[in-house]
Amino acid sequence: RAYNFNAGPAALPLEVLQQAQEQFVDYAGAGMSIMEMSHRSALYEQVNDETQSLLRELYQIPSNYKVLFLQGGASTQFAMIPMNLLPAGKVGAYVMTGSWADKALKEAKLIGETAIAASSEAFKFNRIPDLSTIEIPDQAAYLHVTSNETIEGTQFKSFPVTGDVPLIGDMSSDILSRPVDVSQFGMIYAGAQKNLGPSGVTIVIVREDLVQESPKTIPTMLRYDTHVKNNSLYNTPPSFSVYLVNLMLKWVQGKGGVAAIEQYNRDKTQLIYQTIDQSGGFYKGFAETADRSTMNITFRIHTEELEKQFVKESEQQGFVGLKGHRSVGGLRASTYNAVPLESCKALADFMADFQRRNG
Ligand code: PLP
Repeated sequence: RAYNFNAGPAALPLEVLQQAQEQFVDYAGAGMSIMEMSHRSALYEQVNDETQSLLRELYQIPSNYKVLFLQGGASTQFAMIPMNLLPAGKVGAYVMTGSWADKALKEAKLIGETAIAASSEAFKFNRIPDLSTIEIPDQAAYLHVTSNETIEGTQFKSFPVTGDVPLIGDMSSDILSRPVDVSQFGMIYAGAQKNLGPSGVTIVIVREDLVQESPKTIPTMLRYDTHVKNNSLYNTPPSFSVYLVNLMLKWVQGKGGVAAIEQYNRDKTQLIYQTIDQSGGFYKGFAETADRSTMNITFRIHTEELEKQFVKESEQQGFVGLKGHRSVGGLRASTYNAVPLESCKALADFMADFQRRNG
């Protein structure tokens, strides 16, 4: 297997893929694959309900929250959030942390009034704004944060306390990588394709009172209340993706749950950050130390030629996905839940060796 450091879609655990392979042609003795099965069948409904329960258990989601499986990626949530939760006269407040926060804000601007509650743009988004600088407008409908900026490699280490204003978190690139107090949030959402499974399903965890009744003018599929009322089975769901999320959640459970995964992730990234920090400046981390991500490690070498050579040689040695995002350049290693410690060890060794040869 490749040392897969892709930013998304990303690595899945071999055990999960193998289990899916075993059940691929015949799911639970039904004589058909889960993807051939009616989403109204008892067997599929069980997968749908169990996947919700697993996530509830792992994240200790309070009973007044709903878990939804939607489509359209986290990008569709950028629009659904203001459509459903930003009425006229109110303000959607956003913490500007980088590329993904910017995309979320741009969509909200199409729908209603917005405000930037804090920003680290002056620092080229190499950090998370100090939480004490966040200014929530009086008329705020919600405060939106991007818990982990996938492209810049920064991550909130704690979240702002917002009082009565619902906090909304885009956790696409760090969901289930660490324990989170769900009750601090009005809503959490994430595309599944980094930490939770394949692309095709978007997870929404939302406080019931926020989605009781969506504005009447919104098309049916874009209303949260449609999906709440229909237990995420309003239309044909991405059943195979939900099934794989189910297997992924059981895998996390088997690893000892979210706290154990957090420690594992720390150990993994420590290996690589240490290599960067001890390189005497050969490698330079992009993010400020206090805010650097345990999911996306962004770094540079002092010339672009060396960076290109790094990527080329890494590929020859079985590493995948180490080129930085085209918008910021440099290098990036994404170390999501399913990336094994062995891959990170191999990368740290490769980096040290590359420096020896080129330093
Ligand atoms: N938000 C963050 C933080 C992301 O990293 C991504 C994708 O990489 C998205 C949103 C967009 O997700 P999707 O491709 O599911 O629309």
